[in-house]
Amino acid sequence: MGYHIDTGLIKEKFKTDCECPLCEIRKVAEEQFLHEFLNDAVMADDCRIEVREKGFCKEHFGKLFSGRNKLSVALQMETRLSAITDLFSPVKSAGQAKKRAAQVNKSLSRCVICDLLDDSMEKYYKTIAQLFAREKEFFNSFYNCKGFCLPHYAKLLEYSSCAGIMTKEYLKALTDVQSRETARLNGELKAFCVKHDYRNANAPLGNAETALPRTGEKFYGKND
Ligand SMILES: [Zn+2]
Ligand SMILES: [Zn+2]
Repeated sequence: MGYHIDTGLIKEKFKTDCECPLCEIRKVAEEQFLHEFLNDAVMADDCRIEVREKGFCKEHFGKLFSGRNKLSVALQMETRLSAITDLFSPVKSAGQAKKRAAQVNKSLSRCVICDLLDDSMEKYYKTIAQLFAREKEFFNSFYNCKGFCLPHYAKLLEYSSCAGIMTKEYLKALTDVQSRETARLNGELKAFCVKHDYRNANAPLGNAETALPRTGEKFYGKND
């Protein structure tokens, strides 16, 4: 299953008012994969082999299940279930049981959609660094965004060398933006705390009202 990296999507999400444009990009990519897995096209041989080997994580099973095509999900789960029957053969000792427990846990540790998403996000991290080095306009929107969640901040740091000769400038912009925007969020959190004091009960909350959930997004990324 190929994935086309959409530079238009990057530019659009960097102009969106949010705590992390990468979380917004990931959401779009995830929706596209979920759509494909709910489509019959997913029953192509190569995809079937992947589903058989890895299956889905709990979160992605839940997202597939809440989609419209239950038959497609059932067929894929049937494929996956038939691949794990060895886990249920007789166990003859406590030592073997420990081994089997590890195998059972391992069978739950992979996800075909998570793997596809990780692959495409890696391309986005690289493309963002390249766009920064190449396009003045993107340089500006990068500098003016509201920063990144910590997991995505780490990823952008990791792939910074993709900015080539502009790597130093890229790292400066990345850390400047992150430090400025963390201070901004901290200010909003302080305002939230002050305005929750009963003496300030009538003061308008403004941006501070959503400061706490946005702090969660800043730390852990956006999950929905
Ligand atoms: Zn993020
Ligand atoms: Zn997953």
